[in-house]
Amino acid sequence: MKKLIAAALVGTMVLTMAGCGSKTAETTGSEASSDAAGGTLVMATNAEFPPYEYYEGENVVGIDADIAAAVADKLGMELKIEDMAFDSILPAVTSGKADIGLAGMTVTEDLLENVDFSDTYAHATQVVIVKEDSDIASPDDLEDKKIGVQLGTTGDIYAGDIKDATVERYNKGFEAVVIDGEPAKVFVKENEGLKMLDEAFTEEDYAIAVAKGNDELLDKINTALGELKDSGELDKIVDKYITAE
Ligand code: GLN
Repeated sequence: MKKLIAAALVGTMVLTMAGCGSKTAETTGSEASSDAAGGTLVMATNAEFPPYEYYEGENVVGIDADIAAAVADKLGMELKIEDMAFDSILPAVTSGKADIGLAGMTVTEDLLENVDFSDTYAHATQVVIVKEDSDIASPDDLEDKKIGVQLGTTGDIYAGDIKDATVERYNKGFEAVVIDGEPAKVFVKENEGLKMLDEAFTEEDYAIAVAKGNDELLDKINTALGELKDSGELDKIVDKYITAE
């Protein structure tokens, strides 16, 4: 996705996000238990979202992958990560193909109509990426502009509310990209000629999605998350992937 953003901002490359098949990646999460007495915990994610989930060789790593491994460990379950398009994650969870959706997913009122969410585990932002010489200086300058987003994300929803803006889903040239703050930092760092605007576009929170009514799993996950927060393990996982500037 990072290459895609850089290319799309200069308006050259054609790329489709939709239609990417789902593939299964084994977790490297060191905490993953080999004792699968409690069965398998299937996590649906989109592994193009560093530092939360991305590929390192064949493996999906990142904050979410480590959290899932730690939660699965506490539940005595074996973790299996399924990589798919971001907008396939919700259907995977509601249909029962996956037990959890863990993908830097923002808790929104709309999503709560279709899935339940765990307690939140991270605070996040949507930010704006532009070319270094862009005349877009703040989110207020996005009116009338061509904005790139990833299909089905909160960036997609919020960009749709901007007056007279044209929203493109990572397959055309555009003048700005609305995307979550941490992946934005990674993309800007790895691609020349891009910058992130200082002012965030929105503030939001991430949580783990489970099928509506699956209270047993939800309670177990919240207990596990609570323990990870209290023991400082969650902070350790975050610090492993996000270095303070
Ligand atoms: N936080 C955003 C959302 O939930 C984007 C997540 C992602 O692209 N993985 O919509």
